[in-house]
Parts: sequence; structure tokens; C-alpha cells
Amino acid sequence: MPELPEVETIRRRLAPALVGARVTSIEIRDPRWCAPLAPAELADAVAGRRLEALERRGKYLDWALEDEIHLLMHLRMTGALLLDPAAEMPYTRVEMTFEGDRRLLFVDPRRFGTGELVAGDAALAAFYAARLGVEPFDEAFTGPALRALARGRRAPIKPFLLDQRHLAGVGNIYADEALFRAGVHPLRAAGSLRPIQYERLRDAVREALDAGIEARGASIDDYRDPDGVRGSFQDRFLVHLREGEPCVVCGTPIRKLVVGGRGTYVCTRCQPVPRRPRGGAASG
Ligand SMILES: [Zn+2]
Repeated sequence: MPELPEVETIRRRLAPALVGARVTSIEIRDPRWCAPLAPAELADAVAGRRLEALERRGKYLDWALEDEIHLLMHLRMTGALLLDPAAEMPYTRVEMTFEGDRRLLFVDPRRFGTGELVAGDAALAAFYAARLGVEPFDEAFTGPALRALARGRRAPIKPFLLDQRHLAGVGNIYADEALFRAGVHPLRAAGSLRPIQYERLRDAVREALDAGIEARGASIDDYRDPDGVRGSFQDRFLVHLREGEPCVVCGTPIRKLVVGGRGTYVCTRCQPVPRRPRGGAASG
């Protein structure tokens, strides 16, 4: 699933091409994309309005149009946005056109991606407040802030990081990479870290996300950027999907566990196993 670095890569490619242009049309070929809103209602609000900014919050892409109309796209599992594709694409759910003859397709084989309309900047703030916690690159994301969020929580740290209401934009790949960089085992109780470990984890989350953005995202499934090009971060993973391969730091074979139902990769030497693991399988 596209996480923060993939969505940010898409945003950085599309913003210079499309911001300032008017949306000339939006054709919604799959009504499930914007349900329960009717496609005609969404199209009425979007078509004819100028794109003032293209923003990202967590894994949401915010098409900020004139009159404080926001079209919020979430790509979910397999969604991709393709700019000026040379050919028609299978699984196209939405087609947008912009002034200047630009054409954008939303392609999504598994059809979990969504488009939601939010009217007014106050409503947008409320939408995000109900769903998303701190943004990893915001100055409010500090070691003490992470420690305060985790205080008293006995659930493992990995699902804590994956919960978008705590930290926005981090998914399975970047959680594994950040926990490895911080030397924290994914089964550690979220509230049990030492203060210095929250500092390290804060830094590690940013480093892992930065590395992902630098590599233009990770393509381990369907992810493509708006030019149809794969990211390369999957070639730079430190632990994720590296079961049995040597740890880049100490050479210990990377192990795969299941934590909160998600495949999870650790070096048990660099990330010491907690003495009393809770809420998931112990490393075996
Ligand atoms: Zn190691």
C-alpha cells in the first residue's frame, strides 16, 4: 500500500504540472470510488474549479480547489495516479482533465481507493482531526510527544505506530525500517521505552521516511509514480522483506514475525526481544 513517501512522491510530481490549472472535467467511471456521494454531485463541485494547491496529510492527497473545495484521495492498496498516459489503462476508475490539455487517470485494480469531498477549510481540519495524528515531519512530532502518546500503552509498539490516529502516514514498510533503525523490537510494549528510545524512534521514523522519499517510494506491489515508473526503495530495505538475509549492521539473519497480523522483520540482536512479549507471536 502506498505510504507517506509514495504519496509525497506523487504530490511532488503532480503539483508543478497541475497547480494553477482549472479542472475541465472529471469522469467517475466507478461510483464506488466516491460512495455514498453520487458521482454527479462530486463532478459538479470539482469541474470548472481551479486547483490552488496539492497537499498531503498522512496518506491523503488533498486537491485544494477554489472556494475551499477539497477533493481528498486515498490510494489504499493498489491505487495509482498516471499523468498523460500514452494509452488507455485497464482498471481506470476516474479520469480528470485539466487546462493545458493535461490528463490524469486514477487506476486501481482492487478498487479500495476513495475520493471524498470536503467543503470548507474548517471541515477539512475536522476531517483530519477525526482520523489522523501528528504528521511525522511536523515540529510537533518530538521524542517527548511520542512518549506522551505512548504513555501507559501495553500493546506492542509496531501496531501503535501503524495506527494513523497516533502518527499519520506510516505503514508496514516504514514501521519495520524505523524500529530497526531505532534498535527497538516491534513487540516492545508501546509505553515501555526509555525516554532516549522515544527520541531515537522519532529520528528513525523521519530517517526511514526520508530515505523512502529520496528513492521515490517502494514498489513491492503495484505502486507506480505518475509517470508509470517504479520506486526503488525496495532495493534499500534494511530489514523489511529480508528474511534470512544478514543484518546490515551485525550479520545476524533477519527474522520474520507476525505482529498485529502483519508480516514484520527484525534483527533480534540489534532489536533485543522483550522479556515478556505481549499481543503477538514471539520471535521463533
Ligand atoms: Zn543486527
